[in-house]
Amino acid sequence: MSRFTFNRKQAKLKKLLGIRARLALLALILVAPLMLDRARSLEDARAKQLALASQEFSELAQHSADTQREVISSVETMLKSAAYIRGSAGGVSRSCDILRASLPVNLPWIRSLLIVGGDGHVQCATQNSLVGLDISKRAYLKQARDARDVVFSDFLFSMATDLPIVMAAYPVSAIREDSDAVIVAGVNIDWMSKIMSNLGGRPGISAALIDSTGIVMAAPADQASMVGRSLDTIPLLSAIADKAIDSEQADGSLSFVAADGSKRTVNFARIPGTQSRLIVSIDETKVSAAINHDIRTAYLQLGFVCLFVLLGALVAAEKLIIHPIEIMAGTAKRFGQGDWSARAGRNRLPAEFVPLARAFNAMAAKLGERERELVATNDRLTVMASIDMLSGLANRRGFQSRLDFEWMKALQHGAELSLLMIDVDHFKLFNDTYGHPEGDACLTKLGETLAGLAADTMGFAGRYGGEEFCLLLPNTDSARAVEIGEQVRSVIASLAMPHCTSSHQIVTVSVGVACTRPNERQRPGDLIEAADAALYAAKHRGRNAVVEHGFVRVTDIDGSMAMAS
Ligand code: GH3
Ligand code: MG
Ligand code: MG
Repeated sequence: MSRFTFNRKQAKLKKLLGIRARLALLALILVAPLMLDRARSLEDARAKQLALASQEFSELAQHSADTQREVISSVETMLKSAAYIRGSAGGVSRSCDILRASLPVNLPWIRSLLIVGGDGHVQCATQNSLVGLDISKRAYLKQARDARDVVFSDFLFSMATDLPIVMAAYPVSAIREDSDAVIVAGVNIDWMSKIMSNLGGRPGISAALIDSTGIVMAAPADQASMVGRSLDTIPLLSAIADKAIDSEQADGSLSFVAADGSKRTVNFARIPGTQSRLIVSIDETKVSAAINHDIRTAYLQLGFVCLFVLLGALVAAEKLIIHPIEIMAGTAKRFGQGDWSARAGRNRLPAEFVPLARAFNAMAAKLGERERELVATNDRLTVMASIDMLSGLANRRGFQSRLDFEWMKALQHGAELSLLMIDVDHFKLFNDTYGHPEGDACLTKLGETLAGLAADTMGFAGRYGGEEFCLLLPNTDSARAVEIGEQVRSVIASLAMPHCTSSHQIVTVSVGVACTRPNERQRPGDLIEAADAALYAAKHRGRNAVVEHGFVRVTDIDGSMAMAS
């Protein structure tokens, strides 16, 4: 039982591992290393691209911070120069003239330059409309006086224009102790945003320059709506507001999951000399989305290539192997079913199968030839098996089959069929007198004679056994059969073959005649028995006689009649 199950499983496995499956497997084995290598290189490419993107962003942020720093430096330089002029030029009006004449505001990021007196009123300004303005309440003014250094304000709204602005202040007291004036510059926030433009227009990147309280002072053009807003109120950046504002670190980075579920990395860097910080937030999912898309496309292409390779392998296997095998198997099957003309068409087969087809065709031709030879030999053997070599007539077997055939024919046509049984008289004595070889020669001569008589009478002669012959006469009635029997007897007697130990002195035969119209109740054997009985009667009658079965009329040498029962 278990052996049976095992065999069935084995057969199933063999079926599964058919030639198509094997070729598909082979194609996969060939393609798999390439696929794996390609997948590995794609993953490498992904990691490299991500690293590259991360590096690029950090460089951009750095560049942006450096540029802001340059702006700050130039503002500082401008303030210090103006303070020096104010400190050394004497009166306000003189230093104001020099300031306006020698330091025209040609730096686009400086909107205005002011000299503020000890009372907080603008004494001199590059924009006349600002002269006299009271800015004593501005915190940066006091901070600058206290620090005696350059101080940048947080995000402000201009008192004159109500537009967002950042102010920088430097006390002249840092140069001349006795002076209470402060040099103030209005920094163009738009310009600071422009500097950050390289961080704009990139999916997944948010950038902002924030002041010490977390108010956005500048942002790339596409994120301009953030300007003036507190970091706390900006959804994606609020999570890092505290870290970025309170951190003592000059710069740093942190990763977190934002409220929208996106994974973000934030870089922040303090602009030296100020309380402001540049914040760059990167949405890793969005940044890697493009890379992932490329990688996905590459995987898809890889999948398609594999699919095509597999399909190609299957089609090629079907066309180049399975189909030719089927052609060959079909031809072999036809050949096996006896179609000896079946040949494999070589022009329909791939070159590799041509030698096989050629060998098959040669084998088929050879087998066909042998089959024909076998049939011919068989025919010859069949003939030989039914012929008696001594007399040249049909032997008993040949006679029997001919009798069956003629019996059937007569039965079909309702014709008469006659049989003569012919026995050599005193043949034992002949052998004894003349020897066996002479007896054989006698039998041969009798055979030839009977063959001639059979040809003349449209009959069929045979050697029934020993020295007994028969002559089958289709379509012959009993009268004609007796006639022919008499003819046989007399022709043989006329041969006058000497037989000195016979009462007739020559070789004679006795003939038993039987005739019938075959019907379903009779058998061919009945006809033989009847002829045999008649022959027995002929012998009894004195030999060299013809007796018809069932008839009273019997002829002998004297022409008298006898009767067989
Ligand atoms: P009958 O007139 O009653 O037929 O007498 P018979 O001697 O012919 O009959 P019997 O049956 O006594 O003998 C037949 C003989 O025929 C015996 C046998 O030696 C001989 N004989 C049979 N076949 C052959 C053969 O092939 N060659 C030779 N030479 N003799 C044969
Ligand atoms: Mg006999
Ligand atoms: Mg005899």
